[in-house]
Amino acid sequence: MSAFLELSGLHKVFPDGTEAVRGIDLACGEGEFLVLLGPSGCGKTTTLRMIAGLETPTAGTIRMSEGDITQRPPQARDIGFVFQFYALYPHLSVFDNVAFPLQSSGCDAEEVRRRVCDMVERLGLQELTGRRPSTLSGGDQQRVALARALVRQPRLWLMDEPLETLDGDRRLQMLEMIRAQQLDLGITTIYVTHDQEEAMSLADRVVVMEEGRIRQAGTPAGIYDEPESLFVAHFIGSPGMNFVSGESEAGGWLQANGGVRPPLPARAPASQALTLGVRPEHVRPDPQGPLPGTVVLDELLGTHRNVHLDTPAGRIIMRRPPAETYRSGASMSLAFDKGQIFRTDTGERVR
Ligand code: ATP
Repeated sequence: MSAFLELSGLHKVFPDGTEAVRGIDLACGEGEFLVLLGPSGCGKTTTLRMIAGLETPTAGTIRMSEGDITQRPPQARDIGFVFQFYALYPHLSVFDNVAFPLQSSGCDAEEVRRRVCDMVERLGLQELTGRRPSTLSGGDQQRVALARALVRQPRLWLMDEPLETLDGDRRLQMLEMIRAQQLDLGITTIYVTHDQEEAMSLADRVVVMEEGRIRQAGTPAGIYDEPESLFVAHFIGSPGMNFVSGESEAGGWLQANGGVRPPLPARAPASQALTLGVRPEHVRPDPQGPLPGTVVLDELLGTHRNVHLDTPAGRIIMRRPPAETYRSGASMSLAFDKGQIFRTDTGERVR
């Protein structure tokens, strides 16, 4: 896939000294749906705003297919920027709200009519075109706002937490709609969120950020299965990976807290401070298991249950089928089916 947008060495230091972005290198392919994911304050919005031209990078370059656009003003970048879907013009009809971006960019009336009709049909708004926003339900207003954001069909869409104010079915509906339209129109999209479920369900590639840097970029399955650091291992997954820290022993054991010795994957180096990371679905009860635990909470979540246990190596959460039950206070031994190993000092994964 050809690189359509390329960020190289991107930095942003605000006048008050805040280092919001500390060296981002990222290439986004044509038609790709990229999600920037990370905790609040990690620099997602600032990165997006630099791509849009709303912030000037302190260092680094932004290139699109035609070359360096770092210094180009926002209106000359052909980028659609969507942050919240709610800002509709109250005095305009649905049709005129959707038509507005086209009219302001100088499209002729016939072209405007054709494109607005196409977009309202895509989003199922045909019956509402004559109505004012105040007469619509919240969900319909969101769809109108989405239609207005999509109608111009720019080369690149930038979306900053567009669904933050929605929940439940409405959020899912909008997620589906955004992805379907993006795939259908093939528009390269960079989407910012701190919600990992949103990221995992939308993205071709997820870019996990922390403190102004990219910690890992990869497919949703790739970053879930092969996190490169303790940070990503814990941030991705709900709940994140369990960790057991200790000293690795020859023969493939981890000498951990409380004298417990879970086996380590074969590639573990001996005599090092290592952390074993295990996903909740890879923990199971086993009378011969190396880790004793006491149930503190049995959390039934419909399709599965998360069983929280206290162990000498710390808190462990295991995912089990809903039909099983676990009594608080019950003791059992645990075994791990699969794990990742990380260096405890740097948090990086051991290959
Ligand atoms: P959130 O999800 O909370 O929006 P974010 O990952 O998008 O977070 P940014 O909004 O990019 O993070 O902010 C990164 C850092 O830069 C934060 O510490 C923030 O307080 C700071 N910051 C953002 N804008 C400015 C500004 N104009 N002046 C000074 N500091 C800023």
